[in-house]
Amino acid sequence: MAGDPILSLRNVEVHFPVRTGVLKRVTAHVRAVDGVDLDVYRGEVLGLVGESGCGKTTLGKAILQLVRATQGTVTYSGEDGETELTTQDEAGLFAFRKRLQIVFQDPHSSLNPAFTIFGSLEDPLRHYGVKTRAKRRKIVGDLLEAVNMRREAMDRYPHEFSGGQRQRIGIARALSIDPELIVCDEAVSALDVSIQAQVLQLLMDLKREKNLTYVFITHDLSVTEYLCDRIAVMYLGKVVELCDAEELYSNTLHPYTQALLSAIPVADLDRKSQRIVLQGDVPSPINPPSGCPFHPRCRFAQDVCRSDVPRLRAYRAGSGVHMAACHLIDQPLAD
Ligand code: SF4
Repeated sequence: MAGDPILSLRNVEVHFPVRTGVLKRVTAHVRAVDGVDLDVYRGEVLGLVGESGCGKTTLGKAILQLVRATQGTVTYSGEDGETELTTQDEAGLFAFRKRLQIVFQDPHSSLNPAFTIFGSLEDPLRHYGVKTRAKRRKIVGDLLEAVNMRREAMDRYPHEFSGGQRQRIGIARALSIDPELIVCDEAVSALDVSIQAQVLQLLMDLKREKNLTYVFITHDLSVTEYLCDRIAVMYLGKVVELCDAEELYSNTLHPYTQALLSAIPVADLDRKSQRIVLQGDVPSPINPPSGCPFHPRCRFAQDVCRSDVPRLRAYRAGSGVHMAACHLIDQPLAD
């Protein structure tokens, strides 16, 4: 991927303590994110995909410092140089929260039903110093028009809108303080397919107009193929495959990704017959399997998979590289 990283994650871990007993002693940890190295390049759409429970949402929140990493670094690169976000306190994060925003999955629960749309959207503006109400109303009106809604919508309440309209309002709120990067967390998953397409088109139009960077979190690989420049596939808190979107779909290396891709509904009966059914659920991140975390569900698992953790290694892919973590893939570029 050409360009400079806007964010660089190195060995990021997010472990949540599990407390039990009367004394609430810490008896275990949920390893939600377990050693992720990842760059997000300015202007790209990076897909974060995987089944429910693979750690993608927690990683998205760790990028935004909505949950704090237990270990590792998240470095933001801007005009004024590099800043390590994980060591900043809330006051230090104030300026960065403006640059890094999120759109949630459920637009209904992310808008306060007791507030008008103006009430919900003016809050971040007030927080970041837009003092007069008249100016806030002008900005909120402009934002609503930017997401193809009428200005008058600002005086109505969330329940008066459809799911697609509410998600547009959620996007308007994320845009309100002029961010550089938006984490879209399952942003279209709750919508009907036809509405999904409209909201995805809106996201891409806004990206072009405002030169945005997206981290697009989804369990749905049929959405990411045309939307994303690169895709990182996560399993049990780790990135197991990472490359350009086109490369991922045409030359899938990791058995987990192969299974996910085979489950995409297609009209083609031949492709349907090749579906790889994954047995069971994602194992508990409290006590992940030894060796390769995917081995209990992998149809190719061998002895080495049960004992040794495969590292994410680089392979040649056209003019770029294709990263994958699997013992059975030959000829890495370097060890
Ligand atoms: Fe499957 Fe082994 Fe590769 Fe893991 S390392 S994905 S268990 S073949």
